[in-house]
Amino acid sequence: MEKTFAMISLGCAKNLVNSEQMLYLLDEAGFTLVPDPEGADLAIVNTCGFIDAAKSEAIDNILQMAELKKEGKLGGLIVTGCLSERYKASILEELPEIDAVLGVGSFGDIVGAANTVLAGRTASLFGDKNAPVEEISRVVSTGPGWAYLRIAEGCNNFCAFCAIPYIRGHYRSRKLENVVAEARELAAHGVKELIVIAQDITRYGTDLYGKHCLAQLCRELGQIEGIEWIRLHYLYPDQFDDELIDEIAHNDKIVKYLDIPIQHINNAILKRMNRRGTGDEIRALFKTLRERIPGLVLRTSLIAGLPGESEAEFEELCAFLKEARIERVGVFPFSPEEGTPAAAMAHVDAEEAQRRADLIMELQAPIMDDFCQRFLGQTLRVLVTDYDEESQQWVGRSYADSPDIDGEVYFEGTAREGEFAEVHITAAEDGLLYGEEV
Ligand code: SF4
Repeated sequence: MEKTFAMISLGCAKNLVNSEQMLYLLDEAGFTLVPDPEGADLAIVNTCGFIDAAKSEAIDNILQMAELKKEGKLGGLIVTGCLSERYKASILEELPEIDAVLGVGSFGDIVGAANTVLAGRTASLFGDKNAPVEEISRVVSTGPGWAYLRIAEGCNNFCAFCAIPYIRGHYRSRKLENVVAEARELAAHGVKELIVIAQDITRYGTDLYGKHCLAQLCRELGQIEGIEWIRLHYLYPDQFDDELIDEIAHNDKIVKYLDIPIQHINNAILKRMNRRGTGDEIRALFKTLRERIPGLVLRTSLIAGLPGESEAEFEELCAFLKEARIERVGVFPFSPEEGTPAAAMAHVDAEEAQRRADLIMELQAPIMDDFCQRFLGQTLRVLVTDYDEESQQWVGRSYADSPDIDGEVYFEGTAREGEFAEVHITAAEDGLLYGEEV
């Protein structure tokens, strides 16, 4: 008899890769994915538990599934991912509607858990979150034409505000040959853009090989036929070396877009947050990168209202943003996460942190608008991702746009999804570009 399941994947791209692995394992075991949990035998909620907002979203989704179960419209409920791991001691007690709960070391056990639930029993599986990364195939749910490539698990940085090292375990690189093999397979299935991700990709290889291997990995990925864009996400600022900068500058496949989360620029705050390096080192790094990589687009993320941020430190951050003119900025209000050192430090209240985050976005808006205007009259290479029925235009992304967090390019032409198009940019508005295919 057909066994159906629905999957709700929450949180970041790294968690999405775990969802894709579970999709593969369930598909191999004969389960059928359905789009709607209503009427399914099972619903799997793969959660994020990183900050309060993510936890609330996960709990809302679990409660919705619990309601379906109560109404007899859903067979069983499985919860996986970061929220399960973080609250493993209490999650089943607090949410008794859950039939099975899997931690971040147990994604590979999803089929066994699904069968247990279908047999009317419960399961609670928490494998070793510090074990070497399990190599599991996946069903790519992104695209067309692009996919995430996760190269490591966990994090060793222990930034004082962040719960990730406690949830996801210490930093573990995947073997280089496994990453390259996966990239080849993705290319063979039409993937042209690889988005290289991990909590911190700059330290890739240090645990396995005793040295930084991101440059070498990029070199090997660049040689794969069919891969045309390599996009690098989450580079820790103090881990750049000359070899990496040279590779980024000279490897034509690496898009000149770097995501370097800095969180703040004030020395005392950086130190208190256990970030390595100083504000001046960040300034110097950005200067070097811009000098050595023409056309570079920088993305960063910041936290407003960190412990120790008085008006003076906040002003310092704003002054830095005005001077650095970073093209892409994301900002979160500080969220004191239980169990982290920063949660015990004095900080501004949530309202003030939000006010400061809003001020940063106001300050950034004209900088980002000016950046978009720069493309007027230029021809950009665009990876076509969709067709918008409403405007009857193709939609794609240029090198300056990462999926979901940046803008898009709308254009008229005869493009095909998953392929590249050359687009002459004729207008820019609200972070979006418009043009015509050349
Ligand atoms: S680098 Fe810092 S902020 Fe990023 S995941 Fe690791 S501990 Fe968290």
